[in-house]
Amino acid sequence: MVGLEGFWGAPLASAGMDFSLPPEVIRLGLEATAVAERGARRHESLEDAWIIADDAEFAQELGRLGYLGMTWPRESGGYGRSALERFVVSEALLRAGAPVASCWFADRQIGPVLLQYGTPEQRNRYLPGILAGTARWCIGMSEPDAGSNVAGIATTAVRDGNEFVINGQKIWTSGAQRAEWCYLICRTDPEAPAHKGLSEFILPMDTQGISVRPIQDASGASHFCELFLADVRIPADNLVGELNNSFGQTMRQLEHERGGIDRLFSNRTLLDLVEPLVDTQDDRRRQQLARIQTRYAIGRLMVLHNVMGQAPRGYSALTKIFCSEFEQEVANFCASVAGADAMLGNRVSRGAIYAPAYTLMGGTTQILRNIVGERTLGLPREPRKA
Ligand SMILES: Cc1cc2nc3c(=O)[nH]c(=O)nc-3n(C[C@H](O)[C@H](O)[C@H](O)COP(=O)(O)OP(=O)(O)OC[C@H]3O[C@@H](n4cnc5c(N)ncnc54)[C@H](O)[C@@H]3O)c2cc1C
Repeated sequence: MVGLEGFWGAPLASAGMDFSLPPEVIRLGLEATAVAERGARRHESLEDAWIIADDAEFAQELGRLGYLGMTWPRESGGYGRSALERFVVSEALLRAGAPVASCWFADRQIGPVLLQYGTPEQRNRYLPGILAGTARWCIGMSEPDAGSNVAGIATTAVRDGNEFVINGQKIWTSGAQRAEWCYLICRTDPEAPAHKGLSEFILPMDTQGISVRPIQDASGASHFCELFLADVRIPADNLVGELNNSFGQTMRQLEHERGGIDRLFSNRTLLDLVEPLVDTQDDRRRQQLARIQTRYAIGRLMVLHNVMGQAPRGYSALTKIFCSEFEQEVANFCASVAGADAMLGNRVSRGAIYAPAYTLMGGTTQILRNIVGERTLGLPREPRKA
């Protein structure tokens, strides 16, 4: 039996928790809220804005305000601010549905990964654009036969003198049609066991041999793409981290993807839209609303636990399961309140149609449950099928 103490990463008795935010952090959150609401007013649909609403001008405004790279060290051009400060800014942006898609991936995960694994040259070259909100990045991980199973990646990168030659296909690559750079994961040693022999690269998207084909999702948006790579040559210096040993790096990157407020607030604005329509005299609706508000509070605490670096290993998986399943609940609740109107083409119907994506992107709920079961709770692994 796994004790709760181990699960939560700290003895319960030592609690002494103080949930109040320092006044300067509250002030920052209010400032960021004003910025976020201004940005949100520039767009019609506010839901999933962190993945769909692309606004270069707004991203650069965030850069000028020092809202990108907030926690990165000063010597790398960052602002050396606390995780809590970054949290309140991110929360304000996501809560309002601000159009951050063009800078979100870069700030959330590419920058931190380059800080951890990149060379000083790579940091000097790529971090300034991320900090300024001008550099657009996409992430080339998933392939037609390698989504959940990262170890199944088949796109190859073969060393040829001072270059790597890349061949293969990626899919579901969000923002690839506008990206300047792709953070690409390739197989570099086909002889090695599946988890070994992978490496990560920075791929300039204007390199010859790349074709990008947008995919329309069920709601009609085309924010993700197929990426075809035919004899694409990149400098060997574009390797990030260790050759043939990037699996751990990739898992680290996924941690950045999973435990944040973006997994809770993707469609928070939909609830704002629908809440005034809820019949609060109806007991069932009151119960549903109470459940939703309670879950926002729980999810937010889970995110904070990750953000503050107090969560045990694998906790971001738990957070993503809870929060993204909840985002689906919110979308379905909004559709049920809208009734027949949810069958028309509007924000509510779009929200309901898009909702299945929440428990797929960034790792499916089923895969994350495996992680929680096996790594966090220490349950026996399912025997591999022959
Ligand atoms: C909106 C959106 C944006 C995305 N953006 C990006 C992006 O920018 N870059 C990128 O690289 N990828 C991106 N993805 C892809 C995403 O990471 C994959 O969809 C996800 O990892 C699942 O992979 P798959 O679709 O190939 O499903 P599969 O891996 O084929 O899985 C199919 C089903 O089988 C289940 N399953 C598979 N293996 C197991 C197992 N061992 N145990 C239990 N169940 C299992 C899964 O849970 C799922 O339900 C995006 C996806 C979405 C929806």
